[in-house]
Amino acid sequence: MIYSFEPGDKRCEQFVAVLSDKSLDYEIIERDKVVIRIFGRVNGELREHLDQISGRAGKLILKKESENKPASANITERQKFIIAGPCSVESEEQIDRVAGFLSGLNLKYLRGGAFKPRTQSSSFQGLGKIGLKILASAASRYKMKVVTELMDKSQLDDVAQYADIIQVGSRNMFNYSLLTALGAVNKPVLLKRSMAATIDEWVHAADYIRRGGNERIILCERGIRTFEPRTRFTLDVLAIPLAKELSGLPVVADSSHAAGNRKLVPPLIKAALASGADGIMVEVHPDPDNALSDGAQSMSLDEFKTIFDEITQMGLLKQPDSDAGPGFQF
Ligand code: PEP
Ligand code: MN
Repeated sequence: MIYSFEPGDKRCEQFVAVLSDKSLDYEIIERDKVVIRIFGRVNGELREHLDQISGRAGKLILKKESENKPASANITERQKFIIAGPCSVESEEQIDRVAGFLSGLNLKYLRGGAFKPRTQSSSFQGLGKIGLKILASAASRYKMKVVTELMDKSQLDDVAQYADIIQVGSRNMFNYSLLTALGAVNKPVLLKRSMAATIDEWVHAADYIRRGGNERIILCERGIRTFEPRTRFTLDVLAIPLAKELSGLPVVADSSHAAGNRKLVPPLIKAALASGADGIMVEVHPDPDNALSDGAQSMSLDEFKTIFDEITQMGLLKQPDSDAGPGFQF
């Protein structure tokens, strides 16, 4: 069970005293909020007592079927937004070229991994802190927001310092300690769906972050593993409206990782937007054939411009000039 307090809240001491009194183990994460994760058995009576001390309303993020609105409601209301950039931060020059190009299209969300979850240990692991600095300085030059992945709790101080939106990757969606820690951080979190998670598991994972008091969460459908080997993953298009309904959170779609091949990215972008995604994530690289990671699925700047113009003309981006983003304040 997870509880959250504002820093300096006196009730927190009382709460911890009750846990000690009951000989329960717990973890305390103190950042922008104080998050307490309880280990051990908590019976109904104690739970009520703890709820009372903390003033918590015990509502789950996963709404009951009866609370769901019909599928058509709310689906296209939110502003669409685009998160684009290379898979990995590779150099200052690479990021400057991408950021300059994207900001020329009036796009505001720059992605790039500094800590990379790579399948093979011999592959490029990212530039680490140096990559974060490169990303943040380009974002500030071009007035963009940084979206970058946090792989481990040990990187939290660095990533939180430079990211505007903290990305949790597919491989970490089930990392409940990491999700719990992100509840205590005052930064929006983009939570990718695990390649092997059901929609309910994904929404429950978001609840770990929300329980800690961080409500600024964006879900990201990035494709699930199926029996089909011709695409890298299978973008679960219906997960987009379903996750939106079940969670009430904005849902974006990462078309690049699902496709695995840059030629297949444009149809997925259109499908995702048409199915009600609040935004899309796309990997864009100035020289995809020489990218240090995910080159095959990364679009060149020209290729991205072509699909961007197309979705704009099709009316799939509601107001591409607006800065409304995921619908919450930064
Ligand atoms: C990424 O965005 O570069 C990435 C590693 O994505 P995923 O976690 O979806 O595989
Ligand atoms: Mn990638």
